[in-house]
Amino acid sequence: MSIKENLEKIKTILPPSVTLVAVSKTKPIADLMQAYNAGQRVFGENKIQEMTQKWQSMPKDVEWHMIGHVQRNKVKYMAEYVALIHGVDSLKLLREIDKQANKYNRVIDCLLQMHIAEEETKFGFDETELLEMINATEFELLKNVKVVGLMGMATFTTDKTKIRREFKKLKTIFDTLRAKMPDLHVLSMGMSGDYDIALEEGSTMIRIGSSIFGERNMQ
Ligand SMILES: *Cc1c(COP(=O)(O)O)cnc(C)c1O
Repeated sequence: MSIKENLEKIKTILPPSVTLVAVSKTKPIADLMQAYNAGQRVFGENKIQEMTQKWQSMPKDVEWHMIGHVQRNKVKYMAEYVALIHGVDSLKLLREIDKQANKYNRVIDCLLQMHIAEEETKFGFDETELLEMINATEFELLKNVKVVGLMGMATFTTDKTKIRREFKKLKTIFDTLRAKMPDLHVLSMGMSGDYDIALEEGSTMIRIGSSIFGERNMQ
């Protein structure tokens, strides 16, 4: 199937309130343009340098999401244009995003990455660390970043019960946090292998790569 057909297939099951992030990492501009010409405007990348090159080559109405782990010293390269940073996992990183966003007079939307996978070690906050951070005075003082939601990745497994349990946990944290932070509205969870479960568990944003663009070569 073509990229266009893949996109159409996913969109048929996607509720209108859910945002589809087309994860185009490692893929050439020609592939991204196929998705663009099929109407896709939101793209996700996991390397800042690659994303910046693509931002320079692609039409300017594309919304660029950084979905990977972010190194603080590279934030400056995307501060001018990035629309949403999914993987914020420390106050230090948030502070750097704030500083770089300020240089461009922007407010950059961010998601806090939660560690929900039971087995694998992945980046992200646990609940205690999350509360610690949002209660810190310093957090409130940041003016050029806006935390708009949470992001999480389930364990890479075929055990659907486990995946569902992990997504449920993230949704519960999201709902609890929303009572304190009414601006939260984005729950980024679900990839090619598990987005059907993520949608059932309340995801508002799915990040889909291989089901749109095909398998990736080793990175
Ligand atoms: C690569 C990646 C995706 C997309 O993965 P697929 O399985 O190809 O859909 C989603 N989220 C993150 C954080 C990724 O790094």
